[in-house]
Amino acid sequence: MQEKQQSRIHLSPPHIGEKEQLYVREAFTTNWVAPLGPNVEAFERETAAHVGSKGALALNSGTSAIHLALRLAGVGSGDTVFVSSLTFVASVNPALYLGAEPVLIDSDPATWNMSVPALERAFTRAARAGKLPKAIIVVNLYGQSADMDPIMALSARYGVPVIEDAAESLGATYKGRASGTIGHYGIYSFNGNKIITTSGGGMLVAHDESALERARYWATQAREPEAHYEHTQLGYNYRLSNVLAGVGRGQLELLGQRVEARRAIYQRYEEAFAGYPGIAFMPEADYGQATRWLTALTVDPETAGVTARELIEALAERNIEARPVWKPMHLQPLMQGCAYYPHEEGESVSDRLFAQGLCLPSGSSMTEKEQNRVIDCLLDKMKGWGLRHESA
Ligand SMILES: *Cc1c(COP(=O)(O)O)cnc(C)c1O
Repeated sequence: MQEKQQSRIHLSPPHIGEKEQLYVREAFTTNWVAPLGPNVEAFERETAAHVGSKGALALNSGTSAIHLALRLAGVGSGDTVFVSSLTFVASVNPALYLGAEPVLIDSDPATWNMSVPALERAFTRAARAGKLPKAIIVVNLYGQSADMDPIMALSARYGVPVIEDAAESLGATYKGRASGTIGHYGIYSFNGNKIITTSGGGMLVAHDESALERARYWATQAREPEAHYEHTQLGYNYRLSNVLAGVGRGQLELLGQRVEARRAIYQRYEEAFAGYPGIAFMPEADYGQATRWLTALTVDPETAGVTARELIEALAERNIEARPVWKPMHLQPLMQGCAYYPHEEGESVSDRLFAQGLCLPSGSSMTEKEQNRVIDCLLDKMKGWGLRHESA
Protein backbone atom coordinates (compact mmCIF):
# COMPACT_ATOMS: atom_id res chain seq x y z
CA MET A 1 0.00 0.00 0.00
CA GLN A 2 1.25 3.45 -0.86
CA GLU A 3 2.29 5.21 2.32
CA LYS A 4 0.66 8.63 2.70
CA GLN A 5 3.26 11.26 1.96
CA GLN A 6 4.18 12.79 5.30
CA SER A 7 5.19 16.42 5.81
CA ARG A 8 8.77 17.23 4.94
CA ILE A 9 11.42 17.23 7.65
CA HIS A 10 14.18 19.67 6.77
CA LEU A 11 17.82 19.48 7.75
CA SER A 12 17.93 22.79 9.61
CA PRO A 13 15.00 25.13 8.96
CA PRO A 14 14.63 28.62 10.46
CA HIS A 15 13.04 28.69 13.92
CA ILE A 16 11.46 32.05 14.64
CA GLY A 17 10.27 33.17 18.08
CA GLU A 18 7.93 35.93 19.19
CA LYS A 19 10.14 38.96 19.78
CA GLU A 20 11.51 39.22 16.23
CA GLN A 21 8.30 40.79 14.90
CA LEU A 22 8.35 43.42 17.64
CA TYR A 23 11.78 44.64 16.57
CA VAL A 24 10.80 44.47 12.91
CA ARG A 25 7.56 46.37 13.58
CA GLU A 26 9.56 49.01 15.41
CA ALA A 27 11.69 49.44 12.31
CA PHE A 28 8.53 49.99 10.25
CA THR A 29 6.74 52.32 12.65
CA THR A 30 9.84 54.51 12.95
CA ASN A 31 10.44 54.26 9.18
CA TRP A 32 13.94 52.81 9.65
CA VAL A 33 13.37 50.58 6.63
CA ALA A 34 16.80 51.43 5.34
CA PRO A 35 20.18 49.89 5.58
CA LEU A 36 21.58 50.71 9.02
CA GLY A 37 19.58 52.18 11.89
CA PRO A 38 18.97 51.52 15.59
CA ASN A 39 18.37 47.76 15.22
CA VAL A 40 21.73 47.36 13.47
CA GLU A 41 23.55 49.24 16.21
CA ALA A 42 21.73 47.31 18.93
CA PHE A 43 22.29 43.95 17.22
CA GLU A 44 26.02 44.67 17.02
CA ARG A 45 26.19 45.75 20.65
CA GLU A 46 24.15 42.79 21.86
CA THR A 47 26.13 40.26 19.83
CA ALA A 48 29.46 41.64 21.06
CA ALA A 49 28.19 41.50 24.65
CA HIS A 50 26.87 37.98 24.17
CA VAL A 51 30.11 36.51 22.83
CA GLY A 52 32.46 38.78 24.78
CA SER A 53 34.19 40.56 21.91
CA LYS A 54 35.16 44.25 22.03
CA GLY A 55 33.11 45.03 18.95
CA ALA A 56 30.98 43.61 16.15
CA LEU A 57 30.03 44.61 12.62
CA ALA A 58 26.69 43.45 11.21
CA LEU A 59 26.88 42.42 7.55
CA ASN A 60 24.69 40.97 4.81
CA SER A 61 26.34 37.54 5.00
CA GLY A 62 28.97 35.44 6.69
CA THR A 63 30.79 35.30 3.37
CA SER A 64 31.10 39.11 3.35
CA ALA A 65 32.50 38.93 6.88
CA ILE A 66 35.22 36.49 5.76
CA HIS A 67 36.03 38.70 2.78
CA LEU A 68 36.49 41.74 5.04
CA ALA A 69 38.52 39.76 7.59
CA LEU A 70 40.88 38.63 4.83
CA ARG A 71 41.30 42.22 3.72
CA LEU A 72 42.04 43.25 7.30
CA ALA A 73 44.70 40.54 7.33
CA GLY A 74 46.20 42.20 4.25
CA VAL A 75 45.48 39.33 1.86
CA GLY A 76 45.94 40.26 -1.78
CA SER A 77 46.67 38.82 -5.17
CA GLY A 78 49.27 36.06 -5.19
CA ASP A 79 49.20 35.54 -1.41
CA THR A 80 48.42 32.20 0.17
CA VAL A 81 45.80 31.52 2.85
CA PHE A 82 45.68 28.36 4.97
CA VAL A 83 42.11 27.09 5.33
CA SER A 84 40.33 24.00 6.63
CA SER A 85 39.50 21.68 3.75
CA LEU A 86 36.40 20.11 5.31
CA THR A 87 33.98 23.02 5.03
CA PHE A 88 31.39 24.84 2.97
CA VAL A 89 32.79 26.66 -0.07
CA ALA A 90 32.02 30.06 1.51
CA SER A 91 35.06 29.63 3.78
CA VAL A 92 37.34 29.62 0.75
CA ASN A 93 35.62 31.74 -1.92
CA PRO A 94 36.59 35.12 -0.40
CA ALA A 95 40.27 34.16 -0.71
CA LEU A 96 39.61 33.56 -4.41
CA TYR A 97 37.83 36.95 -4.70
CA LEU A 98 41.10 38.54 -3.58
CA GLY A 99 43.22 36.56 -6.03
CA ALA A 100 44.83 34.59 -3.21
CA GLU A 101 45.62 30.90 -3.30
CA PRO A 102 44.05 28.59 -0.70
CA VAL A 103 46.26 25.96 0.90
CA LEU A 104 43.93 23.30 2.26
CA ILE A 105 44.40 21.70 5.67
CA ASP A 106 42.90 18.33 6.68
CA SER A 107 40.83 17.49 9.77
CA ASP A 108 41.76 15.84 13.04
CA PRO A 109 39.76 12.62 13.56
CA ALA A 110 39.18 13.57 17.23
CA THR A 111 37.27 16.79 16.40
CA TRP A 112 36.77 16.78 12.62
CA ASN A 113 38.29 20.28 12.76
CA MET A 114 41.66 21.60 11.55
CA SER A 115 44.46 19.09 12.08
CA VAL A 116 47.30 20.69 14.03
CA PRO A 117 49.96 18.27 12.68
CA ALA A 118 48.83 19.07 9.12
CA LEU A 119 48.92 22.82 9.86
CA GLU A 120 52.38 22.45 11.36
CA ARG A 121 53.68 20.68 8.25
CA ALA A 122 52.14 23.34 6.03
CA PHE A 123 53.93 26.04 8.05
CA THR A 124 57.26 24.22 8.01
CA ARG A 125 57.04 23.87 4.24
CA ALA A 126 55.94 27.51 3.77
CA ALA A 127 58.73 28.83 6.00
CA ARG A 128 61.29 26.77 4.12
CA ALA A 129 60.00 28.13 0.83
CA GLY A 130 60.15 31.65 2.25
CA LYS A 131 56.47 32.29 1.62
CA LEU A 132 54.29 32.33 4.72
CA PRO A 133 50.51 32.61 4.36
CA LYS A 134 48.81 35.94 5.08
CA ALA A 135 46.01 34.35 7.14
CA ILE A 136 44.71 31.09 8.59
CA ILE A 137 40.98 30.46 8.27
CA VAL A 138 39.95 27.95 10.93
CA VAL A 139 36.48 26.47 10.47
CA ASN A 140 34.51 25.39 13.54
CA LEU A 141 32.52 22.59 12.01
CA TYR A 142 28.92 21.59 12.75
CA GLY A 143 28.81 23.57 15.99
CA GLN A 144 32.14 22.59 17.53
CA SER A 145 35.20 24.75 18.10
CA ALA A 146 38.53 23.66 16.69
CA ASP A 147 41.33 23.13 19.21
CA MET A 148 42.35 26.78 19.18
CA ASP A 149 45.29 26.88 21.63
CA PRO A 150 47.85 25.02 19.47
CA ILE A 151 46.57 26.87 16.39
CA MET A 152 47.00 30.26 18.12
CA ALA A 153 50.49 29.17 19.21
CA LEU A 154 51.46 28.47 15.58
CA SER A 155 49.84 31.77 14.56
CA ALA A 156 51.99 33.64 17.11
CA ARG A 157 55.14 31.72 16.18
CA TYR A 158 54.83 32.63 12.50
CA GLY A 159 53.08 35.99 12.95
CA VAL A 160 50.04 35.02 10.86
CA PRO A 161 46.55 36.15 11.96
CA VAL A 162 43.72 33.69 12.54
CA ILE A 163 40.22 34.16 11.15
CA GLU A 164 37.70 31.95 12.92
CA ASP A 165 34.92 30.85 10.60
CA ALA A 166 32.34 30.36 13.34
CA ALA A 167 29.39 30.41 10.94
CA GLU A 168 28.34 27.01 12.29
CA SER A 169 29.49 27.39 15.90
CA LEU A 170 27.72 30.46 17.31
CA GLY A 171 26.77 29.45 20.87
CA ALA A 172 29.61 26.95 21.29
CA THR A 173 32.47 27.44 23.75
CA TYR A 174 36.20 26.75 23.87
CA LYS A 175 37.74 26.64 27.35
CA GLY A 176 34.97 28.86 28.66
CA ARG A 177 35.18 31.45 25.86
CA ALA A 178 32.70 31.92 23.03
CA SER A 179 33.62 30.20 19.78
CA GLY A 180 34.57 32.87 17.26
CA THR A 181 36.31 35.16 19.77
CA ILE A 182 39.61 33.31 20.14
CA GLY A 183 41.18 34.14 16.78
CA HIS A 184 42.09 37.68 15.68
CA TYR A 185 38.85 37.92 13.76
CA GLY A 186 35.68 35.87 14.06
CA ILE A 187 32.74 35.56 11.73
CA TYR A 188 29.16 34.37 12.25
CA SER A 189 26.44 33.64 9.72
CA PHE A 190 22.70 34.24 10.08
CA ASN A 191 21.76 32.38 6.93
CA GLY A 192 18.40 30.58 7.11
CA ASN A 193 19.92 27.20 8.02
CA LYS A 194 22.14 28.41 10.87
CA ILE A 195 21.39 28.12 14.60
CA ILE A 196 19.87 31.61 14.60
CA THR A 197 18.96 33.53 11.48
CA THR A 198 18.10 36.92 10.02
CA SER A 199 17.03 35.08 6.81
CA GLY A 200 20.40 36.21 5.52
CA GLY A 201 23.17 38.03 7.32
CA GLY A 202 26.50 37.82 9.07
CA MET A 203 28.70 39.39 11.70
CA LEU A 204 32.39 40.16 12.00
CA VAL A 205 33.73 40.27 15.56
CA ALA A 206 37.12 41.33 16.86
CA HIS A 207 38.79 42.72 19.94
CA ASP A 208 40.61 45.26 17.73
CA GLU A 209 38.10 48.08 17.39
CA SER A 210 40.13 50.10 14.90
CA ALA A 211 40.23 47.08 12.57
CA LEU A 212 36.44 46.85 12.83
CA GLU A 213 36.18 50.54 11.92
CA ARG A 214 38.21 49.94 8.77
CA ALA A 215 35.99 46.99 7.87
CA ARG A 216 32.90 49.12 8.54
CA TYR A 217 34.23 51.72 6.11
CA TRP A 218 34.92 49.13 3.37
CA ALA A 219 31.49 47.57 3.92
CA THR A 220 29.78 50.93 3.40
CA GLN A 221 31.17 51.54 -0.12
CA ALA A 222 34.36 53.04 1.38
CA ARG A 223 32.61 56.38 1.54
CA GLU A 224 34.64 59.34 2.73
CA PRO A 225 32.76 61.80 4.96
CA GLU A 226 32.07 64.23 2.10
CA ALA A 227 28.69 65.36 0.78
CA HIS A 228 29.79 64.64 -2.79
CA TYR A 229 30.79 60.98 -2.12
CA GLU A 230 34.54 60.96 -2.23
CA HIS A 231 36.32 57.61 -2.70
CA THR A 232 39.95 56.70 -2.19
CA GLN A 233 39.64 52.94 -1.61
CA LEU A 234 37.72 50.01 -3.03
CA GLY A 235 34.58 49.30 -1.03
CA TYR A 236 31.57 46.97 -0.93
CA ASN A 237 27.87 47.18 -0.19
CA TYR A 238 27.94 44.67 2.66
CA ARG A 239 25.90 46.17 5.52
CA LEU A 240 22.87 44.50 7.09
CA SER A 241 19.46 46.17 6.79
CA ASN A 242 17.78 47.59 9.86
CA VAL A 243 14.73 45.37 9.27
CA LEU A 244 16.76 42.16 9.27
CA ALA A 245 18.81 43.28 12.26
CA GLY A 246 15.46 43.37 14.10
CA VAL A 247 15.00 39.67 13.34
CA GLY A 248 18.53 39.06 14.58
CA ARG A 249 17.92 40.83 17.90
CA GLY A 250 14.92 38.60 18.63
CA GLN A 251 16.84 35.49 17.57
CA LEU A 252 19.88 36.32 19.66
CA GLU A 253 17.74 36.30 22.81
CA LEU A 254 16.84 32.70 21.98
CA LEU A 255 20.35 31.43 21.28
CA GLY A 256 20.76 29.63 24.60
CA GLN A 257 17.46 27.79 24.09
CA ARG A 258 18.39 26.89 20.53
CA VAL A 259 21.67 25.37 21.68
CA GLU A 260 19.88 23.30 24.32
CA ALA A 261 17.30 22.10 21.80
CA ARG A 262 19.95 21.01 19.27
CA ARG A 263 21.97 19.25 21.93
CA ALA A 264 18.83 17.42 23.10
CA ILE A 265 18.14 16.30 19.53
CA TYR A 266 21.69 15.00 19.24
CA GLN A 267 21.25 13.19 22.56
CA ARG A 268 18.18 11.33 21.31
CA TYR A 269 19.93 10.25 18.11
CA GLU A 270 22.90 9.12 20.12
CA GLU A 271 20.73 7.05 22.45
CA ALA A 272 18.88 5.46 19.53
CA PHE A 273 22.08 4.30 17.83
CA ALA A 274 24.42 3.78 20.77
CA GLY A 275 26.35 0.58 20.34
CA TYR A 276 25.17 0.07 16.79
CA PRO A 277 28.09 -1.49 14.92
CA GLY A 278 29.76 0.83 12.45
CA ILE A 279 27.99 4.00 13.62
CA ALA A 280 30.15 6.78 15.12
CA PHE A 281 28.93 10.27 15.96
CA MET A 282 31.16 13.30 15.54
CA PRO A 283 33.15 13.31 18.78
CA GLU A 284 32.76 16.20 21.22
CA ALA A 285 36.09 17.37 22.60
CA ASP A 286 36.26 18.03 26.34
CA TYR A 287 37.78 21.51 25.89
CA GLY A 288 34.38 23.09 25.41
CA GLN A 289 30.73 22.65 24.60
CA ALA A 290 29.51 22.07 21.06
CA THR A 291 26.07 23.22 19.93
CA ARG A 292 25.47 20.15 17.74
CA TRP A 293 24.22 22.58 15.09
CA LEU A 294 23.93 19.47 12.93
CA THR A 295 24.10 15.94 14.28
CA ALA A 296 26.81 14.38 12.13
CA LEU A 297 27.95 10.77 12.11
CA THR A 298 29.89 8.28 10.07
CA VAL A 299 28.70 4.90 8.86
CA ASP A 300 31.33 2.27 8.23
CA PRO A 301 29.76 0.12 5.50
CA GLU A 302 31.90 -2.92 6.40
CA THR A 303 30.41 -3.21 9.89
CA ALA A 304 27.10 -1.36 9.50
CA GLY A 305 26.19 -3.20 6.28
CA VAL A 306 24.79 -0.04 4.79
CA THR A 307 26.35 3.12 3.39
CA ALA A 308 25.73 6.71 4.45
CA ARG A 309 24.45 7.40 0.91
CA GLU A 310 21.91 4.56 1.18
CA LEU A 311 20.65 5.99 4.47
CA ILE A 312 20.30 9.45 2.91
CA GLU A 313 18.29 7.91 0.05
CA ALA A 314 16.08 5.94 2.43
CA LEU A 315 15.34 9.14 4.34
CA ALA A 316 14.63 11.04 1.11
CA GLU A 317 12.06 8.39 0.16
CA ARG A 318 10.20 9.29 3.35
CA ASN A 319 10.42 13.01 2.68
CA ILE A 320 13.24 13.59 5.16
CA GLU A 321 16.22 15.76 4.25
CA ALA A 322 19.66 14.48 5.22
CA ARG A 323 23.00 15.39 3.65
CA PRO A 324 26.47 14.00 3.21
CA VAL A 325 29.22 15.66 5.23
CA TRP A 326 30.76 18.60 3.29
CA LYS A 327 32.74 17.56 0.26
CA PRO A 328 36.28 18.66 1.19
CA MET A 329 37.64 21.62 -0.73
CA HIS A 330 40.71 19.71 -1.94
CA LEU A 331 38.32 17.39 -3.85
CA GLN A 332 36.44 20.27 -5.51
CA PRO A 333 37.13 20.98 -9.19
CA LEU A 334 37.13 24.70 -8.27
CA MET A 335 40.22 24.19 -6.09
CA GLN A 336 42.10 22.01 -8.54
CA GLY A 337 45.82 22.51 -8.16
CA CYS A 338 45.66 23.87 -4.60
CA ALA A 339 48.12 22.37 -2.12
CA TYR A 340 46.64 20.02 0.48
CA TYR A 341 48.08 18.79 3.78
CA PRO A 342 46.52 15.58 5.13
CA HIS A 343 46.45 14.79 8.86
CA GLU A 344 49.23 12.25 8.37
CA GLU A 345 51.26 11.59 5.27
CA GLY A 346 49.11 9.22 3.23
CA GLU A 347 46.07 9.48 5.56
CA SER A 348 43.40 11.99 4.66
CA VAL A 349 40.78 12.16 7.40
CA SER A 350 38.39 14.47 5.54
CA ASP A 351 38.23 12.06 2.57
CA ARG A 352 36.97 9.35 4.91
CA LEU A 353 34.52 11.71 6.67
CA PHE A 354 33.11 12.70 3.28
CA ALA A 355 32.85 9.09 2.08
CA GLN A 356 31.18 7.82 5.27
CA GLY A 357 29.55 10.85 6.83
CA LEU A 358 26.03 12.19 6.97
CA CYS A 359 24.15 14.97 8.73
CA LEU A 360 20.72 14.28 10.19
CA PRO A 361 17.79 16.69 10.54
CA SER A 362 18.69 18.82 13.55
CA GLY A 363 16.40 21.87 13.51
CA SER A 364 15.58 23.22 16.95
CA SER A 365 11.87 23.23 16.05
CA MET A 366 11.80 19.51 15.21
CA THR A 367 9.29 17.66 17.42
CA GLU A 368 10.00 14.37 19.15
CA LYS A 369 7.46 12.73 16.86
CA GLU A 370 9.29 14.00 13.79
CA GLN A 371 12.60 12.86 15.17
CA ASN A 372 11.14 9.41 15.78
CA ARG A 373 10.20 9.30 12.10
CA VAL A 374 13.87 9.87 11.25
CA ILE A 375 15.09 7.29 13.76
CA ASP A 376 12.55 4.65 12.68
CA CYS A 377 13.48 5.08 9.05
CA LEU A 378 17.17 4.64 9.81
CA LEU A 379 16.53 1.61 12.04
CA ASP A 380 14.35 0.01 9.34
CA LYS A 381 17.12 0.42 6.81
CA MET A 382 19.78 -0.96 9.14
CA LYS A 383 17.72 -3.73 10.75
CA GLY A 384 17.70 -5.99 7.71
CA TRP A 385 21.46 -6.19 7.89
CA GLY A 386 21.51 -6.55 11.72
CA LEU A 387 19.25 -9.63 11.57
CA ARG A 388 21.19 -11.21 8.75
CA HIS A 389 24.31 -10.48 10.70
CA GLU A 390 23.03 -12.21 13.84
CA SER A 391 21.81 -15.36 12.11
CA ALA A 392 25.06 -15.72 10.19
C1 LIG B 1 27.06 29.09 6.20
C2 LIG B 1 28.52 29.13 6.20
C3 LIG B 1 29.24 30.23 5.73
C4 LIG B 1 28.65 31.36 4.96
O1 LIG B 1 27.69 32.08 5.54
P1 LIG B 1 26.66 32.92 4.63
O2 LIG B 1 26.01 33.80 5.67
O3 LIG B 1 25.72 31.95 4.00
O4 LIG B 1 27.44 33.71 3.65
C5 LIG B 1 30.62 30.23 5.86
N1 LIG B 1 31.25 29.19 6.39
C6 LIG B 1 30.62 28.10 6.83
C7 LIG B 1 31.42 27.00 7.42
C8 LIG B 1 29.23 28.02 6.73
O5 LIG B 1 28.61 26.90 7.13
